[in-house]
Amino acid sequence: MPNHIPPALVASLAGLPGFNKETFLAVHAAAEKITSVRLNPLKLATAEKRSEVLITLSPQGHSRVPWSTEGYYLPERPSFTFDPFFHAGAYYVQEASSMFLEQAVRATVDLNAPLKVLDLCAAPGGKSTLLQSLLNEESILVSNEVIKPRAALLADNVSRWGAANVVVSNNDPRDFSRLPGYFDLIVIDAPCSGSGLFRRDPELIPEWSPENVVLCSQRQQRILADALPALKEEGILIYSTCSFSQEEDEMILDWLAAHFELENIPLPVDEAWQIVPAVSPKSNCTGYRFYPDRLKGEGFFIACFRKRSGESPRKWKEQKVAALAAKDKEKLSHWIDMSRDQQYLLHQDEALIMPPALYKEIALLQQQLYIRKAGIKAGQLGAKELIPDHQLAASTLVAANIPRVELDLPEALLYLRKEDPAIHTDIKGWALIQYHQMPLGWAKILPNRMNNYYPKEQRILKEITGL
Ligand code: SAM
Repeated sequence: MPNHIPPALVASLAGLPGFNKETFLAVHAAAEKITSVRLNPLKLATAEKRSEVLITLSPQGHSRVPWSTEGYYLPERPSFTFDPFFHAGAYYVQEASSMFLEQAVRATVDLNAPLKVLDLCAAPGGKSTLLQSLLNEESILVSNEVIKPRAALLADNVSRWGAANVVVSNNDPRDFSRLPGYFDLIVIDAPCSGSGLFRRDPELIPEWSPENVVLCSQRQQRILADALPALKEEGILIYSTCSFSQEEDEMILDWLAAHFELENIPLPVDEAWQIVPAVSPKSNCTGYRFYPDRLKGEGFFIACFRKRSGESPRKWKEQKVAALAAKDKEKLSHWIDMSRDQQYLLHQDEALIMPPALYKEIALLQQQLYIRKAGIKAGQLGAKELIPDHQLAASTLVAANIPRVELDLPEALLYLRKEDPAIHTDIKGWALIQYHQMPLGWAKILPNRMNNYYPKEQRILKEITGL
């Protein structure tokens, strides 16, 4: 069925910069599927590893997403489910226009500084994993999602990405008013009416209505008003949607300019990219429109602001968290590369690892937010030994001398289905299961079988075919 764009949407876009009714309708009718991925620099440290992953994804080649350092278009959509590199967190499947967030961050924020960053509407984690790749080790990212099951999905995707400087929280935007002036950068990738995704996801089309656009715009205002107190003076707000509607884009910029002390920041945009600068009708703020008939990506809108004044950050009382006892640290030392500058915490009976920058903040964040994940969970501290957690396997912190079992593709897929790939090995006990040297998870190797510790909720459910 051809994508039937609502006439009321088309009529509402007439006259907007960059809008061309004929090419807009034609590109939706053609319904081309564009596939793009963004590589994980934390896990793909060498050029060889990067090209190995890209060749596996697409033996017939790939091309760069022009506004992204790590983004690539693939000529065809492979089966990500049946690619162990996907489960190993080697890359994230992300729509290309959204990757422009990188340009917005680079143009507005000093990425050499230690930053506190909030991604307020973060699930499933596309923008958060991108932000994490841009931040230095002294920076922290709070990745928040209000809807509980979506927060669980976000936590899984952040775990897979493997970085230790991220906190995943499950809070309503208004809860962040408890952290006045705290963040240097707040990204609000707002829930919206979704018209920008109509080419990719035509099933969204029947849900669109002018009334819903108005409701979305009111909700966007509420989210922004709730979040802005948590931004420090001189801090940066990045606002984005995947809607074409002015009510959710330029008119939100006007509303922000009218209600808050914010300075709009124009971004450098290469003309060849075909991204369209759009000036808001009342306050002349500039945002950027992405149209699928002009560039290789879906519909998107983004704008940046600097907060001119605000409440000064509260002086927080030094908070304490439970450090790990020496005997528990001893249990960890077998599993973890302890040479790195990181802190070890006890949370209930679990050991957590985090960089010093996050350790400094964690007690405060824990007091103010509902935290689902902080740093890397090393595992459960049993009476005798540590039961390693999947988060540790997915991190880059596992000690080099931990036994590793390399699987081929059919074996790796069986392992990811939480089955027993029936391997032959001399290794006994705990082992890190790998595919092309990339950790997939833990197993305990017994004389005739393996106990597969891959998380049940992340296992592949689809039948394996055609291998
Ligand atoms: N940033 C995400 C990414 O790049 O993967 C996509 C975010 S999506 C556009 C918007 C998110 O906002 C959804 O996960 C949705 O659950 C969440 N959301 C819905 N209602 C919300 C609300 N009232 N306040 C804050 N977030 C909300």
